[in-house]
Amino acid sequence: MQNSRLQLIPSLNLLLGSDEIKKFPLLDSQKKQIINLVLKYLREEILKDKRFEPNLEFIIQKVITAFENNKNILTRVINATGTIIHTNLGRSVLPHQVISNLINVGSGYSNLELDLETGKRGARDLGVSQLMSKLVGAQDCIVVNNNAAAVFLTLNSLFKSKKVIISRGEEVEIGGSFRIPEIMKAAGVKLVEIGTTNRTHKEDYQNAINENNIKGILKIHQSNYKIDGFSKSVKIDELKSITNLEQIIIEDQGSGTLIDLGKYHPDLVSENTVQKSLAQGADLVLFSGDKLLGGLQAGIIVGNKELINKIKKNQLFRILRVNKLVLASLETILQIYLDEKEAIKTIPTLRMICEPIGEVEKRLQDCLKLVFNPELSLEVVDSSATIGGGSCPQTFFPSKALAIKSSKIKVQKIYDYFKNYQIPIITIIRKDEVLIDFKTVLEQDLEVVGDAINEFKY
Ligand SMILES: *Cc1c(COP(=O)(O)O)cnc(C)c1O
Repeated sequence: MQNSRLQLIPSLNLLLGSDEIKKFPLLDSQKKQIINLVLKYLREEILKDKRFEPNLEFIIQKVITAFENNKNILTRVINATGTIIHTNLGRSVLPHQVISNLINVGSGYSNLELDLETGKRGARDLGVSQLMSKLVGAQDCIVVNNNAAAVFLTLNSLFKSKKVIISRGEEVEIGGSFRIPEIMKAAGVKLVEIGTTNRTHKEDYQNAINENNIKGILKIHQSNYKIDGFSKSVKIDELKSITNLEQIIIEDQGSGTLIDLGKYHPDLVSENTVQKSLAQGADLVLFSGDKLLGGLQAGIIVGNKELINKIKKNQLFRILRVNKLVLASLETILQIYLDEKEAIKTIPTLRMICEPIGEVEKRLQDCLKLVFNPELSLEVVDSSATIGGGSCPQTFFPSKALAIKSSKIKVQKIYDYFKNYQIPIITIIRKDEVLIDFKTVLEQDLEVVGDAINEFKY
């Protein structure tokens, strides 16, 4: 009797194959773990309760509830804003190779500080350092919590109580109250400010170097704004020509790219790559791991070995160092960069930046095929996407969006409906319409977006 009821319990694979369970936004490995727990519970209940006869539908609902209960507050959302590196939405989408290596490294022990060849204690960031030297020709590399930490740690390690030149045009504020002049002061640096907000000349640097005991020059990427018109700044190679061995040139590139993206998209102005800045004479280049690089949050310092050794000796480095998952993900993503074409194709940030508008349109049309809801008015419209995250300010790409409105309901209500959908969909409001910009909607999200539109009622 009991045994026959135990046969009511479906196999793990049957459950994994059911539509509702397949659709649920968790990794398969997470799903398997949770389903196994539910099945164990059901078996126990059957043995305890003679009248308990769960049917398939009941069991699927139990699994879904268990999935829901395992859902964090911090969860996956769908980015329909058209801003590719969206700081509020977690910046970069990780390539699938990175995800599988995170599971590999995170689900067991790892050789984080063990050299498998010698059996002795090893360096945590060996893989990353070797790849960086191949990719950008840097002598050495160091990884910290984020680029803000990289800037602070570099300044504090190399220039405490020393004079560093900064152009007034580069004394920027990045989001989250990160202000360059304040960070410099907090790191113990004596600022020597030169030039004006819109124009700084080579002679300004020259004069400051002649008059003061200058130990460093800090160049900051303007990141989130652009001065048009009557403006001037001085490039790394020009600086190199007027400095001597006493002055170290540091460049904070912010988004820092390893690929000249101007080659791939007509709307992008070429920005300096990390390797180009090093080749032009920057002693150290600092950049983020989760902006144009397309990986997890990190700050990366590359360049001169001696300087990096000094930074490594700073006590603060121990405070700011990153964990094994960040190192593992960075190593995987740098492996992808060894093949530039592969990087453009598989790193989602780069793919979205470089893909032609036809690809965006195709995603939109594929989604439209799934959609039918007479309660909403839907229209395909032109929109403009942007990189965001302080990269390539004022660069907009032509994009395609679905404009949604209703004569019966306020636009804010439609926006909230999508935001509160089971997988939140973050749209933008333009006048009296909600826009779903398909530049940032991923292939894997199309079905969910379609379901959300179909299920809308007032
Ligand atoms: C974004 C940015 C930073 C801060 O980088 P995080 O990785 O977000 O800490 C610092 N400097 C510049 C120029 C930036 O654009």
